[in-house]
Amino acid sequence: MVVPRRCRKFLDAARARVGALEYHRRVRDLEELERLLRQIDGSGYGAYKRIAGEWYSRGLVLALDRVQGDPFAAASCVRLELPQQEHGLPEALWASRPRRVALCDFVARVFARAAANIREVGGSGGSGRVSIDAGGAEILARSACELTEEGALSLRLRVGLPARGRRVMGRAAATLLLRALPEAAMAVCAARLDLERARAWTLLAEDHARLQEEARARGLVCFIRDGSVLPRASGVSARPLEGAVPFESPASLRVTLETSHHGPVTGMGVPRGVTVISGGGFHGKTTLLEAIQSGIDPHIPGDGREWVVTDPEVVKVRSEDGRAVTGVDLRPFIRVESLPGRAGRSGPALTTRDASGSTSLAAAILEAAELGARCLLLDEDTSATNLLVRDARMQALVQRETISPLIDHVRELGAQGGISTILVIGGCGDYLDAADTVLLLEDYRVREVGERARAIARELPTRRSPEASTGGVPLALAERPARCPSAASFDARRGSRGKETVRARGLRELAFGEGTLDLGALEQLVDESQVRAIGALLRRLGRLADGRTPLRVLVGRALEEVDARGLYHLDPRPELARVRALDLGAAVNRLRSLEITRN
Ligand code: ADP
Ligand code: MG
Repeated sequence: MVVPRRCRKFLDAARARVGALEYHRRVRDLEELERLLRQIDGSGYGAYKRIAGEWYSRGLVLALDRVQGDPFAAASCVRLELPQQEHGLPEALWASRPRRVALCDFVARVFARAAANIREVGGSGGSGRVSIDAGGAEILARSACELTEEGALSLRLRVGLPARGRRVMGRAAATLLLRALPEAAMAVCAARLDLERARAWTLLAEDHARLQEEARARGLVCFIRDGSVLPRASGVSARPLEGAVPFESPASLRVTLETSHHGPVTGMGVPRGVTVISGGGFHGKTTLLEAIQSGIDPHIPGDGREWVVTDPEVVKVRSEDGRAVTGVDLRPFIRVESLPGRAGRSGPALTTRDASGSTSLAAAILEAAELGARCLLLDEDTSATNLLVRDARMQALVQRETISPLIDHVRELGAQGGISTILVIGGCGDYLDAADTVLLLEDYRVREVGERARAIARELPTRRSPEASTGGVPLALAERPARCPSAASFDARRGSRGKETVRARGLRELAFGEGTLDLGALEQLVDESQVRAIGALLRRLGRLADGRTPLRVLVGRALEEVDARGLYHLDPRPELARVRALDLGAAVNRLRSLEITRN
């Protein structure tokens, strides 16, 4: 085998990775692959198994990481590795972590377009179909495209190996794997890639990350630049709404932040503390909150929310009738010991397979706090009213209330837990007493009306009496016992044969073992690939959990591994996207198989 000089360094590195012996066994010349494909032409489909493994040619490694057993099964996993000498992309494009993520995101999108032009093979099942998991409105780290330490671009694809009936189409496969794929890969090499656009992509993502730091340093939970377009074209579209009223900051909240590549940017900074977003129905309250919750991720150029920047530790919480809650001490919100049917049971922690609107919201708040949330977002549209507030008349009428509402603890959350809150409240003026910042939306325009709200609060007292923390339990997290999941919590085996079942069903549901994990309340997940990543991470947690490690530490460990070794290492399927520890932890908390030890 003659290895061209320009590839030698790359191959040496690859060899070092797998060990020399192993390398020679697994890494073979692409010409050999071509011969093999001709050989198996017309054989039963299973013969494709023989092409599994890594193959290399002049400028590229082609690896068949998983070969499908049937033309109608999930397509094969194919990896294309382009060494740096081959793709030639300037190192400046991946000089920082945000840049690297954004470059890979961009490359996957470009490859997706090139792959769409690959000519159909016209065989059975998914024959000849090539796809890559490219992103939507957000820029996310994905296993579909990663840069290796040596600067090689690694593209992970799905390829339907061509078949006629259930017979191998070896020649079509050779054309596909040895001509069409490398040609599509040319589209992401420096000679053909739009480097200016790639640069814009990477610098935008880097500035988004920088603004997250700047905002935090300035005591802001989020920043929205003037001129941003927040509403989407429809409830099911991620595209910006045409003709929308552009965002404009109220003067009193206007701040200017420095970026690294786009000069100073001016817009609204929402300070830490309690913020109420109010306004009439249909004036844009939910739209504003949704923009804030999506600002944890950078958005692609042209999205309209490129300069919506939210603290990465912000968590949207909501009520979820019917969810499972496992071993959560719901004080101070709920007097668990006085819930009907609980009399005489010991321990303040609640475990239920069917939480109510209010208990589920209380659990979501306390679980998010336990996982390290720095700010909570709530929308009255999706929050149980009885957990938000109890007005003077209800206080007079209902004596045996088990709930002590959020309104009496929201300031304490900030003071003791360091947790800010942004609430959309259109119907309950009692919250004006608790707010540091009050925003009013009128015809999609934001006004800051704190002064007026305080005057109104003085003129029209609510007459409600503040309700003390139930059971006198502090919200301070340090004083709450840590919840430690058992390894068995993550058992994904199913049926009598004990086959592991972990399958994403759209953006909001994960089949896991015997049950279904409902992720509908994790509104900050934006991509089905994140749900798949949660599935893979839950299995990983099954290995890491020992019943003595707190949940927060556990999810942190799993994600550290991902950051160090890449998503692909976690699970070789090419459709995973990075999730936050906060979302992974929230998924764990919703597992119906969760078992908790407290210490
Ligand atoms: P609310 O929560 O106050 O009832 P929404 O946020 O649901 O209101 O918004 C109501 C409608 O107004 C939605 O269809 C949304 O797309 C649209 N909308 C929101 N913000 C704007 C804007 N800045 N310009 C134009 N339309 C908007
Ligand atoms: Mg609304």
